[in-house]
Amino acid sequence: MELVPTQNDVVALLRRTGGLRAGHFEYAGGQHITEYLQVALTMRDYAAAKVLSVGLSRKVRAHTEIRAMIPELSVVAPATGGLPVAYGVCEALHARQVYWAERENCDEPLHFRQYLQIDPGEKVLLVDDILRTGSKLSEVKKLVEERGGEVVGLAVVVYQPNPNMVDFSPLPMFYLAQIDGQHFPNAAACDLCKRGVPFDKVRL
Ligand SMILES: [Zn+2]
Repeated sequence: MELVPTQNDVVALLRRTGGLRAGHFEYAGGQHITEYLQVALTMRDYAAAKVLSVGLSRKVRAHTEIRAMIPELSVVAPATGGLPVAYGVCEALHARQVYWAERENCDEPLHFRQYLQIDPGEKVLLVDDILRTGSKLSEVKKLVEERGGEVVGLAVVVYQPNPNMVDFSPLPMFYLAQIDGQHFPNAAACDLCKRGVPFDKVRL
């Protein structure tokens, strides 16, 4: 495999490690899908995690302006799910530090750990495993900016285009693979349901 894995390499690796599953699934919001992505399952496999985070770091490093910031760069994940990628990218880049946001309950805003300080003008690369709507990334971006930091780009393993995605332009966005999958807004509109195919309920 090349240092930057191709789209096909990434899809094959996700399938082999159980991170990408073909079938019939229902999200908690009622949407039905034919491909379920759970990058955390892939990140259990240390060698696979290394391939993905090193590949992603190389895409980031190819950006001239960000490359110049690497010694000062903070790698920030919007939730603990992004941590394996964030640490892998930080290690491969030799960036300055990693930290992450979290929340106690789903109805509470994201926050950083107590005593975490962001330096004025601190350069921040936001990193996560998947970009779908971008709502969490957008929330953590706001949190960084409110504390005086500057978000300089976003890097995710998989980009799953979504009509409700937050517009992050003009920030550069880096990803290793784009996975579309088939989406149905609900069971009534789902082709698989019409054929009587049973589905799994998935949490995320
Ligand atoms: Zn269905």
